Amino acid sequence: MNLLVTGAAGFIGSTYVRTLLASPEPDAPRITVLDKLTYAGTLDNLELDHPRLEFVQGDIRDAELVGTLAADADQIVHFAAESHVDRSIAGAGATDFVLTNVVGTQTLLEAALRHDVERFVHISTDEVYGSIEEGSWPEEHPLRPSSPYSASKASSDLLALAYHRTHGLDVRVTRCSNNYGPRQFPEKIVPLFISNLLDGHNVPLYGDGGNVRDWLHVEDHCQGVELVRTRGRAGEVYNIGGGTELSNKDLTGLLLEACGADWDRVDHVTDRKGHDLRYSVDWTKIRDELGYRPRHDFTAGLADTVTWYRDNRAWWEPLKQRAEALS
Ligand code: NAD
Repeated sequence: MNLLVTGAAGFIGSTYVRTLLASPEPDAPRITVLDKLTYAGTLDNLELDHPRLEFVQGDIRDAELVGTLAADADQIVHFAAESHVDRSIAGAGATDFVLTNVVGTQTLLEAALRHDVERFVHISTDEVYGSIEEGSWPEEHPLRPSSPYSASKASSDLLALAYHRTHGLDVRVTRCSNNYGPRQFPEKIVPLFISNLLDGHNVPLYGDGGNVRDWLHVEDHCQGVELVRTRGRAGEVYNIGGGTELSNKDLTGLLLEACGADWDRVDHVTDRKGHDLRYSVDWTKIRDELGYRPRHDFTAGLADTVTWYRDNRAWWEPLKQRAEALS
């Protein structure tokens, strides 16, 4: 079986591919990774010499290239995206988000349809729902995205479902909560704060730090994606969550503690525009239908993540310089 995985030089896609390549099953899929290697992607995340892996550098908007790869693919798992909310808000940043997340996804869907790809898993996000003060969103909840990032993800999510309803393409959509773990690009809150603290710098906390997020280990997200790919149903949306709900202030406290630092290392900065107060997904569907259970305890997972960043400066230092050069 040939699996085309987009965006797998990034954080979550590379974790997913590493998991599949580690499988001892004789019928484990051969994987082609398509990734543009934007500032967020790095080949250091991939085992390039693995016999079941092929890497192709390219843009998901390149219809000719995508068509050639889709012709060889049995299934597609689509992670590629512009993923950093702040960059979608600053300057003209939203343009890249629409081009990659919306036009790029439509280009892939069209290629999947034309080349009879049997299954298309679209990786969406809980941010498409907007903000919720109490309770949790079920999959049927209307989408009310707040940022240009989440609006571009909601657009691609709806396009993917439209290709199922209109054309009968076997599309499955996952909407996951906030991920943490090794190899997350050091501009996102967890690795940004860890790397700043390890370097003796302060960390920037938005507003009063009251925004609440559900945290999930990246390997648990990948477990959910694989269940949806192998056992899910066509045309269905699956929320993936079940980690730990924390305010940014609580998360900051845990990261300070894990890095042996005090609150005097925190700079309170002006809140992000349109900052959603709380995200919370109801993930009973994937639990009851596909047997999904998060396996990582948050405290242990966060401690392991801090250790990973402590031990892998050579991975994140160049990426951090790259991100700083762009801002
Ligand atoms: P990431 O930014 O670490 O990786 C994105 C990858 O996509 C990079 O390797 C980049 O080079 C590639 N890419 C970007 N534009 C491309 C293009 N035009 N063509 C080909 N490749 C391109 O992102 P991530 O955190 O790994 O997120 C992966 C997916 O999961 C995204 O779709 C994101 O919306 C979704 N998601 C992320 C989270 C989270 O907490 N990080 C939560 C839920 C859903």
